[in-house]
Amino acid sequence: MHPDLERILFDEETLQAKVAEMGAALSRDYAGKTPLLICILKGAALFMADLVKRIDVPVEIDFMAISSYGQSTKSSGAVRILYDLERPVEGRDVIIVEDIVDTGLTLAYLRDTMIRRQAASVKIVSLFDKPSGRKVDIQPDYAGFTVPDAFIVGYGLDYAERYRNLPYVGILKSDIYATG
Ligand code: 5GP
Ligand code: MG
Ligand code: MG
Repeated sequence: MHPDLERILFDEETLQAKVAEMGAALSRDYAGKTPLLICILKGAALFMADLVKRIDVPVEIDFMAISSYGQSTKSSGAVRILYDLERPVEGRDVIIVEDIVDTGLTLAYLRDTMIRRQAASVKIVSLFDKPSGRKVDIQPDYAGFTVPDAFIVGYGLDYAERYRNLPYVGILKSDIYATG
């Protein structure tokens, strides 16, 4: 285990099994369709890469980056598009692929954006859900694991741009962000 972690919550095998399960659910629910999966950079990049390999209906993928916590472990509440989609979502079955839902502010903004851009349907897939952090009433349509009120890193999730490469997910020791 990485020395900056307090403990591991989900090992590689557990993550991969859940991603396979979520891919199978999407394959069932989108049978006969060609959904557009939108990966929310950068946190969802690893999840997205593994998820699409577990979906057996035709899919298209695109990417979007929005501002979130910056270098902090608390949400600022302000959401801003840093990098937008390559193609329009009008008439598409959109699946927003997120790493984690905490306050829900990011997802509420993204869902509204996709509806405003006239997507035919909008669903949300998030590998992690932290319901204790919620500030707006929004739930992912597909959620992998519920996590406690702690700051987690690994498998795409960072603290100050680090730890994204860990193949497992764990709780960061609090003295790491206390000392910067
Ligand atoms: P929101 O608060 O808007 O629901 O979440 C915004 C983003 O904050 C998430 O997509 C994720 O990138 C980041 N975030 C929320 N909770 C955590 C966490 O426990 N660890 C990490 N590394 N990022 C988080
Ligand atoms: Mg994210
Ligand atoms: Mg981050």
